[in-house]
Amino acid sequence: MASILVTGGSGFLGANLCERLINEGNKVICLDNNYTGRMKNLENIINHPNFLFIKHDVIDSVQLNESIDEIYHLACPASPPAYQGKAAIMTTKTCVYGAINFLELAKKKNAKILLASTSEVYGDPLVHPQNESYRGNVNSIGIRACYDEGKRCAESLFFDYHREENVRIKVIRIFNTYGPRMDPKDGRVVSNFICQALRGEDITIYGQGTQTRSFCYVDDLIDAMIKMMQSPDDFVGPVNTGNPGEFTIKELAEKVIAKIGGNSKLRYCDLPKDDPTQRRPDISLAKEKLCWCPQINLDEGLDKTIEYFKNEIQSRGKK
Ligand code: NAD
Ligand code: UDP
Repeated sequence: MASILVTGGSGFLGANLCERLINEGNKVICLDNNYTGRMKNLENIINHPNFLFIKHDVIDSVQLNESIDEIYHLACPASPPAYQGKAAIMTTKTCVYGAINFLELAKKKNAKILLASTSEVYGDPLVHPQNESYRGNVNSIGIRACYDEGKRCAESLFFDYHREENVRIKVIRIFNTYGPRMDPKDGRVVSNFICQALRGEDITIYGQGTQTRSFCYVDDLIDAMIKMMQSPDDFVGPVNTGNPGEFTIKELAEKVIAKIGGNSKLRYCDLPKDDPTQRRPDISLAKEKLCWCPQINLDEGLDKTIEYFKNEIQSRGKK
């Protein structure tokens, strides 16, 4: 039984990860300030004897008495509406101070630590598909910079702690991931489109909907995270984790409407600033080093996610 710390553990990915790690027989400490996370995401495991929840902001340093073998460092808002605007400075602090605080903890506990980095380190990419050696095209003074540059700085801190302090690190760059335990209010495209269609509202397409994204189902991504953590110490990444299937946002909207039915129409809205025009991971490295490749295609993943949101919306309606 390993003793595993998950920061950001009440969020979408973190809660899926915590449940999987508990089901595999580990002891899990989940640490979160619940900024975008929800205790509801942890309802299946909150009373499990091997699970502990600690409310804590990763911007602040941390002391833990427990021994820790592995740290999955996920704490950070991931949806543009959650990390921009009045949350921008907090987001940079979360990325930078959060990385330092948990790298220090990893050093003290002699634990391996994995960073949930992001495809956003590639910015609005000029190379397509994106592989790990591409250095990106980020607007360092734009409205997404708090997140993009925050994660880039977190990556650089991880590599410096590895070089200077011999901390065992793992860095994954996650591309758009969706599935059960997303918050209906989260604001990302998959949750917005499904909830809008289920409520019979119009589907909000930002811009013309010609921008592309590659969508990975959550179970596939959790497999990749765990495989990365368990890979040999000399493989530190960064490694792209995502599903290379690429769709325009308009195609996604049409798929969602076709699956849910109803009267929703497409409503075209302003495109947010610096919105990347295309995204597709080159996952050759993950295939080679982790023997990992996504198993769930967009149609299958959307069906599972629609079922989840139907229940979410129904249970909210009853309250
Ligand atoms: P999420 O918003 O659902 O989860 C983030 C969690 O971090 C939440 O529980 C939130 O409360 C917590 N958090 C935020 N700031 C914190 C702080 N200062 N202290 C403590 N907890 C804090 O998002 P997610 O999709 O689950 O993303 C998890 C991680 O994966 C993030 O680091 C994100 O950057 C990364 N990621 C996700 C995606 C994706 O498509 N889901 C893509 C790329 C990267
Ligand atoms: N998007 C959209 N309508 C929405 C939400 C998002 O058209 O209601 C677009 C958004 O502009 C972006 C894409 O969908 O081009 C993915 O957005 P998301 O917020 O999910 O992730 P990210 O931009 O971080 O990839």
